[in-house]
Amino acid sequence: MKKVDYLIIGQGIAGLSFAYQLMNAGKSFLVVDTPQLKSSSSVAAGIMNPITGRRYVKSWMFDDLLKEAEQFYSSLETLLDCRVFHRIPIVRSLFNHQEEQDWWIRRQDQDYIPYMHPPMNNDAFPKGFKKVFAFAKVAKGGRVDIHGLVEAFKVYLNERGLIISDLLDYKSLDLRDDHCVWKEQSFGKVICCEGAHVMNNPFFRHLPFNPSKGEVLIIKAPELEGNSVFKNRIFIVPVDPPFYWVGSQYKRSYTDDNPEAESKHFLTERLEEVMDSPYEIIEHKAAIRPTVKDRKPFLGVHPDHSCLYLFNGLGTKGASLAPYFSKHLYAFISEGQPLMAEADIKRFY
Ligand SMILES: Cc1cc2nc3c(=O)[nH]c(=O)nc-3n(C[C@H](O)[C@H](O)[C@H](O)COP(=O)(O)OP(=O)(O)OC[C@H]3O[C@@H](n4cnc5c(N)ncnc54)[C@H](O)[C@@H]3O)c2cc1C
Repeated sequence: MKKVDYLIIGQGIAGLSFAYQLMNAGKSFLVVDTPQLKSSSSVAAGIMNPITGRRYVKSWMFDDLLKEAEQFYSSLETLLDCRVFHRIPIVRSLFNHQEEQDWWIRRQDQDYIPYMHPPMNNDAFPKGFKKVFAFAKVAKGGRVDIHGLVEAFKVYLNERGLIISDLLDYKSLDLRDDHCVWKEQSFGKVICCEGAHVMNNPFFRHLPFNPSKGEVLIIKAPELEGNSVFKNRIFIVPVDPPFYWVGSQYKRSYTDDNPEAESKHFLTERLEEVMDSPYEIIEHKAAIRPTVKDRKPFLGVHPDHSCLYLFNGLGTKGASLAPYFSKHLYAFISEGQPLMAEADIKRFY
């Protein structure tokens, strides 16, 4: 029987990142991924946003995540000969005097200065948008072309016979004490990276996932400047100007992962509020994010099957979390290094 070190279920950004850690460590692996299911990675804008929310709070672990992500994506760009990581400022609208004051106050904190430029008055407001009270730029933000990366990596794996296109049936996994047999191949370990489809996985679906549906529009807007991400209630992201990603919606309650007319209406209304130049809607897409109640990643080993692991819970931040936490999970598996308590699935056992 052929022996392989790892089987990875799912090739979104989670499965891709773990596979890349294995490649760098010289381990053998096989990825199984199906086009029958919609992946969150194919819809995401890939924004890495250091300053979030109305209170302008620094994103959890952002310095460490950014450092790891820069190295990780740059190395993949070399391997795949494509550009996926874009350093790009995020322009945030400030709607009134109070918001401008709050920005200044937060900026007094030394930790925040590298990330928050001073507010600017609306004379310099980005072209093509309706002016508001003022605006400010968030520095050190980035955007990862997650979809492009996943597709390019799939081609790379395919050319080397390292991926198969199949919907894995969990009943076909024969889990033994220290390995697993699947389709007459023996795997030392199985890493489950199914995103929100983890709800079909009988070994891990009991964990408190709290998936959220997101919907986006792709628009063509020739008069926008295209050199920054624009945040004004919604994000408007230059993916390939004049094409922009507009999103997104957060829905906890939904019946399927198809785009809904009501969400298109919501996004169009927001666009009308911010745009001051012509645009055309090209596409409307939806997917389910693998979000978790406490908004932290979900890593760890199954309590009863020592060869079965989970790499999930990337939620709204797959682009920034995947590089760091794939490395972290691999160090746990290969060297026995402890998992961060906040990310370990044990926190819910
Ligand atoms: C609208 C929207 C906007 C977003 N914007 C951002 C953003 O700006 N920045 C950011 O960082 N993140 C963003 N995200 C979140 C990001 O998409 C996720 O964090 C990330 O893509 C999750 O990756 P994943 O690999 O865990 O899951 P997925 O990308 O969903 O991949 C899971 C893969 O597993 C496969 N699979 C599942 N079950 C099986 C099975 N049984 N057999 C075989 N294959 C299987 C699926 O086919 C899929 O390919 C956004 C998400 C949405 C929906």
